[in-house]
Amino acid sequence: MDSTLKRTWAEIDLDALAHNYKTLRDRIGANVKFLGVVKADAYGHGSVQVSRLLQELGADYLAVSSIDEAIELRLNDITMPILILGHTPKEQVSRLIEYNITQAVTCKAKALEYSEEAVKCGGTLKIHIKVDTGMSRLGYLCDGDYFDTGVEGICEGCSLPGLYAEGIFTHFAVSDEPGDACKAYTEHQFQLFTDVIKNVEEKLGRRFAIRHCANTGAVARYPETWLDMVRPGLLLYGYGEFADELGLEPVMSLKTTVSTIKTYPAGTAISYGGIYVTDKTTRMGVIPYGYADGFFRALSNRCTLMSDEGPVPQRGKICMDMCMIDLTDKMQIDVGSEIEIFGKKNSINVMAALANTIPYELTCAVSKRVPRFYY
Ligand code: PLP
Repeated sequence: MDSTLKRTWAEIDLDALAHNYKTLRDRIGANVKFLGVVKADAYGHGSVQVSRLLQELGADYLAVSSIDEAIELRLNDITMPILILGHTPKEQVSRLIEYNITQAVTCKAKALEYSEEAVKCGGTLKIHIKVDTGMSRLGYLCDGDYFDTGVEGICEGCSLPGLYAEGIFTHFAVSDEPGDACKAYTEHQFQLFTDVIKNVEEKLGRRFAIRHCANTGAVARYPETWLDMVRPGLLLYGYGEFADELGLEPVMSLKTTVSTIKTYPAGTAISYGGIYVTDKTTRMGVIPYGYADGFFRALSNRCTLMSDEGPVPQRGKICMDMCMIDLTDKMQIDVGSEIEIFGKKNSINVMAALANTIPYELTCAVSKRVPRFYY
């Protein structure tokens, strides 16, 4: 968004993004390709800017969730391969071909539809076959009794006219979760995936050019799953415990400034519902950051933001466009002082845990009216 208004804004540190990319690149080595997941506007960071940098740095592939997201990148000088992870209606196949976009194919019916449409428009659609090994979301079902029919279906899909099956992939459900049961589940998914690949490749008599499955958890913890390409999202943006372990840096810092300060006597109820009542004379600041900007109302009265003088507690219910922070013992903080909501000083991981969610949801929730500044 083009804006010079510093009401509440997100600073996107492209140096941190480059550092994260290079650190991960070094980790996986030169023989493994790198796909950067830039769906959902690059998890709220701005997919065009993030993709431009990844392209410049030599990443191999990008992934988005829809054709609109993919075409936005194509219209902004992104020429590198792009994979759509989600569904594309068959009517859009000619545009996929026109813009040279790779489509995930998740079942027999879609393979047939895409093939028919590609033949009709006289082109070839590049596809990656998605295998459901235990995420139970999208993909050819191949587990247990479904193994043979799954393999059969994939082979059929790969042999249809108008389609070129460049890749095959699966998605892990719990690779980022702790504990032996999650490790065993991930290992089972990976074993099944490699069994499917082996069977399909034998039947087809050729190798897929790109076989991939490693998301953030697997890039951090399961090197054996890296295969031909890794597919991280969150790690690239520098959040979560694995990012800390790998020395990655948070890319987004969400900031605002104090717009008003008032001093209230003890016994004053603050904001809607009066859930917070001052227990002493209290110097209360208002910041223009509310739930319409992406602040979770569920965090009301429960989280801490960061000032230059240290942590400041948020008080009372979070409103649509603003909320209150306690500046009683922060006398140097004045109207105009900067407050970091999350970022380099105030960990997004802590705020996500308080909100009983994951960092992904917090950065995706930063709304359109919050301008992103790149530096
Ligand atoms: N691959 C697929 C199919 C996904 O849906 C996602 C994200 O949801 C990713 C990779 C990246 O996951 P993460 O951000 O955990 O690395």
